[in-house]
Amino acid sequence: MYLKSIEVYGFKSFANKIIFEFHDGITGIVGPNGSGKSNVADAVRWVLGEQSAKQLRGAKMEDVIFSGTETRKPLGYAYVSLTINNEDHKLPIEYDEVTVARRVYRSGESEYLLNGNSCRLKDMQELFLDTGIGKEGYSIIGQGQIEKILSGKPEDRRELFDEAAGIVKFKKRRAAAHHN
Ligand code: ATP
Ligand code: MG
Repeated sequence: MYLKSIEVYGFKSFANKIIFEFHDGITGIVGPNGSGKSNVADAVRWVLGEQSAKQLRGAKMEDVIFSGTETRKPLGYAYVSLTINNEDHKLPIEYDEVTVARRVYRSGESEYLLNGNSCRLKDMQELFLDTGIGKEGYSIIGQGQIEKILSGKPEDRRELFDEAAGIVKFKKRRAAAHHN
């Protein structure tokens, strides 16, 4: 399983539709201050279900929508999609290629899409459980996170190991069973 591409439209500084394609090896994103490097990481976290505007360095969710510049009008919605190669079926779904997407309008109306079909946030989260991907997964290491892991509470560290060990889904199912 690997990230093949990211498509962004109307998300933060990306007013034009942009497709980032990834190939074998390591990809670095470089550019001057304020050019949108961190916005790429924000886009990935957002499509994976980030609900906190603050985590996305905004005040409210609407702040992820391109707000315009001197020469360009604001846009009405933000859209991000990730296309993942799933030939090894690490994602528990029959497709060899999986595209997950999220769209949000200024009205607050929003939707998640899985291979073009509307789905719930919960479906999205369950798809990525135990893969290390996901807004809490260790596939995205934010600034200050290493520090948190090293100096954090054992319970917090435990969550990371549970995810790596692939037992989060069992814990969630057990918790859900206790609620019923
Ligand atoms: P640095 O090297 O300083 O970390 P960076 O390349 O990571 O910079 P980002 O933080 O990704 O830069 O991008 C910040 C830019 O994104 C700012 O210029 C900001 O105005 C722009 N931006 C953020 N949200 C929006 C929005 N909703 N609409 C338009 N532009 C936005
Ligand atoms: Mg940055």
